[in-house]
Amino acid sequence: MTAEREAALLAEVPKQLFIGGHWVDAASGATLDVDDPATGRVIATIADAGVDDGARALDAAVAAQESWAATPPRVRGEILRGAFDLLQERKEDAALLMTVEMGKPLAEARGEVAYGGEFLRWFSEEAVRITGRYGSNPEGTGRMIVTQRPVGPAFLITPWNFPLAMATRKLAPAIAAGCTSVIKPAALTPLTTLFLVRLLEEAGLPAGVVNVITTTASGPVSGAIIADPRLRKLSFTGSTPVGVRLLKQAADNVLKTSMELGGNAPFVVFDDADLDKAVEGALQAKFRNIGQACTAANRFIVHEAVADEFGRRLAERVKAFRIGRGTEEGVTIGPLIDDKAVKKVGSLVSDAVDRGAILLAGGSAVQGEGSFFEPTVLDGVRAGSDILREEIFGPVVSIIRFTDEADAIAQANATEYGLVGYVYTQDLARGQRLIDALDTGMMGLNTGVVSNAAAPFGGVKQSGLGREGGAEGIHEYLETKYVLTPDPFA
Ligand code: NAP
Repeated sequence: MTAEREAALLAEVPKQLFIGGHWVDAASGATLDVDDPATGRVIATIADAGVDDGARALDAAVAAQESWAATPPRVRGEILRGAFDLLQERKEDAALLMTVEMGKPLAEARGEVAYGGEFLRWFSEEAVRITGRYGSNPEGTGRMIVTQRPVGPAFLITPWNFPLAMATRKLAPAIAAGCTSVIKPAALTPLTTLFLVRLLEEAGLPAGVVNVITTTASGPVSGAIIADPRLRKLSFTGSTPVGVRLLKQAADNVLKTSMELGGNAPFVVFDDADLDKAVEGALQAKFRNIGQACTAANRFIVHEAVADEFGRRLAERVKAFRIGRGTEEGVTIGPLIDDKAVKKVGSLVSDAVDRGAILLAGGSAVQGEGSFFEPTVLDGVRAGSDILREEIFGPVVSIIRFTDEADAIAQANATEYGLVGYVYTQDLARGQRLIDALDTGMMGLNTGVVSNAAAPFGGVKQSGLGREGGAEGIHEYLETKYVLTPDPFA
């Protein structure tokens, strides 16, 4: 039954580019294959856009910009709300599609549909709350008017790890603000975006407001779009090295940019923490999405008095995880995205063990079909190990110890990243001190998950620029215009 459902769903998903309201092949006729990471098998063959297709997609976005900006906010909001409702009707299909193309267990894919869908609903509500100000200037000689207007055509680039939520987190505020866009999902997981955009089309989104290109040539295709002076906004979610390259390209046309980049989250456990809750939070912060989340806890910084016990309890829970294809009942750990990811995680674990870390659970790639890595717990990871510096992006816990609060803070902040930090303590004053002390854009205080459509998501330092979601998210797609007019009574 599941196999039949999967086949029917994969047959239904659009396989073409979406440009100016039409589903079209790449001009060259080229195609790309999408694999299931749990089996390595091809599940769909879709259009592979070239530079010309990217240019046509931007043409369509530019052509639709003026009329979309003039479309009443209520109408824009109701189209988003319609798409939210359609996604709820198709939520099981959306979840299954994500599991099949990306690998996360079905229960987590359902969670992402709920989370990702909320951006459609949230920004349907924000569309009608774009406000300005009107008032006297301090001298009393004039009236100052401040308004917000859409920045213009946007280019949205999303990663493979949260195929739905990363798309809705950008598309929904762009649509709400009155911006048209071209969206480019990762070539590894393009199907969910194609499915989502079909729902937006069904919800009544006019032609050209959203255009989709899928490509194996992301560098050249994106480079040409970013270099086009008609583009006004670039929003990127992905790795820091690619983000840095795109920022440099965006500088030439002084684009408004949003950058949601990599992380290296500290997970700090004080000796006064509720250890049961800390273990529960650690499992969520580390193993959600098989560790492939920018918000994944990367370094577990644990007080020396409780580190042994924390590691023991965590390892016990991790050994009970079930590895398998995410569609199977009871599976808690799916595959990594590809074999390259398995090799990278394996080399980080080997480096840590070679330098003296102790393996409490897992530690190896799983032999056989698919790209699986055992859920792993490493204790006593030595300073200088690669795993403490690099984003692991896999199911590996690395535990280091601290002696006092100042030491914990220093270790937590010893990274060029600053996306999120997690802190477990029952001491309220200490928790408040840590809010100020952690150099991160977000913090989970006694919780292992922070994401919410109503919250401003984003990082500091090399984790990025700007915020997505919350009241802040729509401002990434708006620019401020100020007008002065003489005081009518002067
Ligand atoms: P990535 O390699 O940087 O790719 C991200 C996106 O950029 C993909 O669509 C990719 O397309 C595209 N891309 C790659 N090279 C490009 C280039 N030269 N020009 C234009 N586009 C290019 O990152 P990833 O491996 O997909 O995603 C994992 C990373 O994303 C991690 O670092 C993670 O922390 C970060 N992330 C951050 C957030 C956040 O909100 N801060 C959220 C999720 C993920 P192709 O892959 O098709 O080339």
